[in-house]
Amino acid sequence: MRPMDQASFTIIGLGGLGTPLALALAASGARRLVLVDDDVVDLSNLQRQVLYRTEDVGRPKGVAAKEALIRRGVPASRIEVARVRFNSASARGLLHDSDVACDGSDNLQTKFLVNDACVAVGRRFVIAGVVQDHGQVFPVRPGHDACYRCLFEAPPAEEIATCAEAGVLGATCGHVAAIAARAAMALAMGEDPKGILGKAWLIEAGTPRSIVLRPRPDCQACGIEFSEKENQA
Ligand SMILES: [Zn+2]
Repeated sequence: MRPMDQASFTIIGLGGLGTPLALALAASGARRLVLVDDDVVDLSNLQRQVLYRTEDVGRPKGVAAKEALIRRGVPASRIEVARVRFNSASARGLLHDSDVACDGSDNLQTKFLVNDACVAVGRRFVIAGVVQDHGQVFPVRPGHDACYRCLFEAPPAEEIATCAEAGVLGATCGHVAAIAARAAMALAMGEDPKGILGKAWLIEAGTPRSIVLRPRPDCQACGIEFSEKENQA
């Protein structure tokens, strides 16, 4: 599709996954990063949120992350900060002019929102998650790959343990974020020589393995699109 210096990414959630993701994509020469988070830096998770310092506690995460990237030599003009929550009202604006959406949020509701918003407008995206020593990376090309709802259908009625309750291993965050960043690059550039796309990646105790998934024709998010394709074929 396009080289990295022309690629634009929206990063949703600037915690233990979103900060190393932003760092990796910035270091890879992305043209534009949109950093989305409505929260402030908290002392409790600081050790795995690699862009923040203790003096950033209480400051908006996007602002602190942007300053950290500028200190590392990333031009300020390449970074935009959106201090909003990603939801159905803000999604369209946050995805505008973005090649790939990267979810690093810490809750399933947001992951489903990212999935549905991206499928609706045909935006490529990658969903990343970590709980304890387990991670997942799920890159999606709408209209081509299974989406998040093809796999999980809907969020559980009651949220499973949050990251804060279950705990998260910092090393796993960095590992999962690096795989997610590489998948996001493949999605943006349209180059996939080793086959990172079209699969769900599961990382357990430091070891990634992949599962090839097929889109579900009755998926509530993307099923109609695939049914139409089948009818046309
Ligand atoms: Zn689907």
